[in-house]
Amino acid sequence: MASSSVNLEEIPSESLMNELLRRMKCAPKPEKHLILIGPPGSGKGTQSPIIKDEHCLCHLATGDMLRAAVSAKTPLGIKAKESMDKGELVSDDLVVGIIDEAMKKPSCKKGFILDGFPRTVAQAQKLDEMLERQGVKIDKVLDFAIDDAVLEERISGRWIHPASGRSYHTKFAPPRVPGVDDVTGESLIQRKDDTAAVLKSRLESFHRQTQPVINYYSKKGIVATLHAEKPLSDVTDEVRKVLS
Ligand code: ADP
Ligand code: AMP
Repeated sequence: MASSSVNLEEIPSESLMNELLRRMKCAPKPEKHLILIGPPGSGKGTQSPIIKDEHCLCHLATGDMLRAAVSAKTPLGIKAKESMDKGELVSDDLVVGIIDEAMKKPSCKKGFILDGFPRTVAQAQKLDEMLERQGVKIDKVLDFAIDDAVLEERISGRWIHPASGRSYHTKFAPPRVPGVDDVTGESLIQRKDDTAAVLKSRLESFHRQTQPVINYYSKKGIVATLHAEKPLSDVTDEVRKVLS
């Protein structure tokens, strides 16, 4: 048998206990395969960690993965950077490839939350093919419905922790210490594309390319529409109702 590279004795007891409790809580959970669709700033990244913990799913956010690739200057990141800076979508093939790979992670055993994917009907069709091969089907699509007018304030006050994708807001969801991630104590950053000018083109591509994806899933009868302009905890309550 190959020797494990992890020495369990070196892991603090509290971490081991927490992992054990997590596994006991997760074992009986049914599988769930979810898609979150909504314009930039509608709250997908805020609700995802809550859904992920409650249902033991992995959170696959193509925007987070692409930003990590851009900052690591990988070939994928170099290809994606220009479109991302302009607020345009990157090519379907690039994102389909990263999602296909990411779904194989052990943390996706109980299912996944797709956040920011699929964003075009072509991506949705490719996802269907991928899932058919795995014998998996999408259970629910959460549509974060919100008026465009609300989004500029959401986007301009957003601060993120790049390593985890955690989102904060100076007014609506401030961190305990300004500019610092609550969990790791690391610095928060503002996204380069979170400006009023880039938001305009991101919204334009949302309405033109992503709105039809909601119609695509509506025909399958699996879309639940949320009132995403409500306060954060009200949206969490709506999500819980839909997924119960
Ligand atoms: P998305 O992932 O859909 O782009 P985020 O979840 O990052 O959006 O939310 C955008 C910003 O709005 C963040 O700064 C977040 O803290 C804040 N936010 C999220 N949900 C709400 C809400 N229901 N009410 C007010 N602010 C919110
Ligand atoms: P997000 O973090 O979801 O706001 O995404 C940031 C940027 O990454 C977008 O403006 C796009 O340039 C790119 N991106 C993320 N997901 C996708 C996707 N599914 N298809 C194409 N481009 C994407």
